[in-house]
Amino acid sequence: MSADLLSRYGQPVPRYTSYPTAPHFTPAVDGAVYAAWLAAIPHESRVSVYVHVPFCAELCLYCGCQTTVARNRAPVKAYADRLVEEIGLVRAHLPAGLALTHLHFGGGTPTMLADEDFAAVMGALRATFAFTDDAEIAIEIDPRVMDDATVAVLAREGFTRASLGVQDFDPAVQAAIGRTQSFRTTRKVADALRAAGIGALNLDLMYGLPHQDEASLTRTVETALTLDPSRIAVFGYAHVPWMKKHQSLIPEESLPGPAERLAQAELVARLIKAKGYEAVGLDHFAKPEDAMARRADEGTLKRNFQGYTTDDAPVLLGLGASAIGALPEGYVQNVPLTPEWHKRVAAGELPIARGLAVTDEDRLRRDVIERLMCDLKVDLGAVLARHGFPADFFAPELGRLAPLVADGLATCEGTVVEVPEAARSFTRVVCAVFDAYLAASRAAEPEKKRHAAAV
Ligand code: SF4
Repeated sequence: MSADLLSRYGQPVPRYTSYPTAPHFTPAVDGAVYAAWLAAIPHESRVSVYVHVPFCAELCLYCGCQTTVARNRAPVKAYADRLVEEIGLVRAHLPAGLALTHLHFGGGTPTMLADEDFAAVMGALRATFAFTDDAEIAIEIDPRVMDDATVAVLAREGFTRASLGVQDFDPAVQAAIGRTQSFRTTRKVADALRAAGIGALNLDLMYGLPHQDEASLTRTVETALTLDPSRIAVFGYAHVPWMKKHQSLIPEESLPGPAERLAQAELVARLIKAKGYEAVGLDHFAKPEDAMARRADEGTLKRNFQGYTTDDAPVLLGLGASAIGALPEGYVQNVPLTPEWHKRVAAGELPIARGLAVTDEDRLRRDVIERLMCDLKVDLGAVLARHGFPADFFAPELGRLAPLVADGLATCEGTVVEVPEAARSFTRVVCAVFDAYLAASRAAEPEKKRHAAAV
């Protein structure tokens, strides 16, 4: 891809973990609306649950998550106790015994929870939901905050999958991002998880970090692959110091530019695929026998707030400060700041800050964007027919797509729009053509920065 294309199409675009995206949520959706949506969930529905744990042992400078540093155990214990209360509040509105197919603990660093915290939260969840026999119970792990006792707790509580945060093994890069983590530490945790029966391991890597270059990234990827993960996620570092103040401690001049970022993303993809992994969507890789690769092959992969997922439950319930839920009627987000979340739950309120009731048109556009993000391809005619919209509904979007087609970022054959392999990194730019909210918000506030760079 040329520098000219990068300058024309490198503008900030959303990551499309939802559509409409979170910046368009409003306070019109509050606890009362959420309570009605919860009560309307059919008793035969499958649900998935996300639990957010907003604590870390220290702050990584690149961090874009909702988290704070906990220097002692007290705030974590208080948070776990409150999570149990929040589960009780949600349970009061739900039909009894809903089948739970996916549970994901994210953060922050969920392993900041102590053994008794895990037992309490898992006990409350098991008292609320009927976990299916094949339920996936997953957790994000910082290998620096993990010991054998926690591994044993996760095994006892039935966890099946773990995502290990790595980012980069190069000491200079680690120093620049404030995250020192040896390969030995990471391997020890991976080995311990496998020995305890938690065999489904993901690795999270990053490109676009300070001082990364192709040689250091090659060493990192080759070292990481010796851990033999079943899935790998490779995220581009999103430098948004206007939203995450601590990122301003990373000097801009240490960051790779757009062309280097693109070359890094392509290099990492080549290295991982050369070891037999399949590229999944924009930034994931999976072994061909892994469920995620199979879903991608079948065209049934899904996208949610954790990224790509095999989870196709129609209801996602978010628990904890800032957690986002997705229900058939729309999205809800808990209050982001932990003190306010405590206050609301202690008062017996569902701690919703904002959300969005989706319209039929939102559902249509969500389907188009999700298929593009997951399959890099969508049959607009089929999606329009499925949603009962006229065949020419996307005529304006096809007009806006024409320059991208001319530039090789998309193809359009009949009603099928596809992102060619060479333009995979620009998939979000093609999705943005179908995003009605983005165009409106750019027109209303052209200077406002909301998202990270497209590539
Ligand atoms: S461990 Fe993860 S969530 Fe915590 S500060 Fe580092 S990047 Fe952020």
